[in-house]
Amino acid sequence: MQKSLEKTVKLYEEDAYNKEFEAVVMSCEKDKDRYLVSLDRTAFYPEGGGQPADTGYIAGIRVTDTQEKDGIIYHYTENPLEPGISVQCSIDWKRRFSNMQQHSGEHILSGIIVQLSGFDNVGFHIGSEFVTLDYNGPLTDEILKEAESRANSAIYANLPVNVRVYSNEEIIDVDYRSKKEIEGPVRIVEVPGCDRCACCGTHVARAGEIGIIKIIKAQNYKGGTRVYILCGIRALEHFRGALESVDKISTLLSARPDQVFEATAQLLEESEEQKSRIAGLQTKLFEIMAEQVENEFDGNIYTTIMDDLSADELRQYALILVEKVGTCLLFSTNANEGYRYACASSEIDCREITVNLNKTLEGRGGGTPKLTQGAVKSGREKIESFIASLT
Ligand SMILES: [Zn+2]
Repeated sequence: MQKSLEKTVKLYEEDAYNKEFEAVVMSCEKDKDRYLVSLDRTAFYPEGGGQPADTGYIAGIRVTDTQEKDGIIYHYTENPLEPGISVQCSIDWKRRFSNMQQHSGEHILSGIIVQLSGFDNVGFHIGSEFVTLDYNGPLTDEILKEAESRANSAIYANLPVNVRVYSNEEIIDVDYRSKKEIEGPVRIVEVPGCDRCACCGTHVARAGEIGIIKIIKAQNYKGGTRVYILCGIRALEHFRGALESVDKISTLLSARPDQVFEATAQLLEESEEQKSRIAGLQTKLFEIMAEQVENEFDGNIYTTIMDDLSADELRQYALILVEKVGTCLLFSTNANEGYRYACASSEIDCREITVNLNKTLEGRGGGTPKLTQGAVKSGREKIESFIASLT
C-alpha cells in the first residue's frame, strides 16, 4: 500500500445519510482476486467499532468490503479502477440503514442497562444472526425487561441522536462511556437521558427511526452476560419468521397460536404415557413369548434371530427368557447395519460365548458373566451357522 496517500475524508462522519457521492480514485492495487481501491473521500463505512463494513458500487463496480488502515479507507472491488479519474459511488442503503438502526438501538439499550445495573458494556457486535452486547456482570430478567421498556420509550419519544466531536480540553468535563482509552478529540454519540458514548459509527438522526429495540435472549458469558438483540427492520423480519413458525405449529396441533405451548405440553405428556403403556405391553409380550419357549424348548442354549428390537428391548427379553431356559443368545436386526445380540445365563459364563462370537462374526461387545451385549457385522447366514455350532 502506498504510504504517500492522504487520509481519506470520511463523509459518513459528517452525514450518515450520504448514500451517493462523487470522488476521485487515489490508488488501486491488486490483492489476490480483488482490488484495493482508495478514494479522496468516501461515504463507505469501514468495518469497526462493532459495525460491519458497507458494500455498494464505485463507477458501477461492485464493492464487497471496506476496511480502514492508518486513516486510509480501502474499498475491495471486483474490477480495477484507474487512479485520477472521478467516479460516482453509491452504498447499499438498506444494509447500511439497518446497521444504523442496530447501532443506535444498541447505544440506547446499553446506556440504560449500564445505568440500571452498574455493570460495564464490554462488547458489541452486529452479527449476521443477532446483535450481541456483552456486560461484565450478571443481569436479571427484571433489569433486562425494564431496560427494554425504557429503550423503546426513547423510540416513542423520538429522542434525537446527537453526534459531536469534543476537543481534548472540552472532553475533560464530559462523562461518557467508552470501551477503550481514547487520545485526541473524541466523537461522542448522545441520546439525552439514555446514553453518552464514544463512537466512530453511523447513527440514525432520531430514535424513532430505530422502530423497535427487542431483546431476543440473554445468557451467561465469560462470567458476565451476553444479550442478543434485534432492532428495526431486522426485528421485523425475525418476528415475521417466528410468527410463521408458530402459525405452522398451530395448524399442526389444531390449537390457537397463543395456546401452542399448552397444546405441545399436552402432546408430550400423552406421548410419555403412550411410551410407558407400550413398555408395559412389551414386557407382557416378552413374558408370553418366554413362557411359550419354556414349554417347547429342551436344549442347553436357547437361540433365536428376531427383527428390529432395540438394544434395550433385546436385553429385556434376554433377562425375562433366562429365568425360563437357563441360557439364551438372542440376535436382532439392527437399524444401522448388521445384527445386535444379547446373551444371558444363570448357568454358565456368557463372556466365553461372547469372545468366540465376536471373533467369528466380526463383533464388538461384552458384559458380565450373567449378561453380555454387542453387535456383529456378519450377516444372517454366518450367524445361523454360528448358532448351529453351539448346539
Ligand atoms: Zn457505537
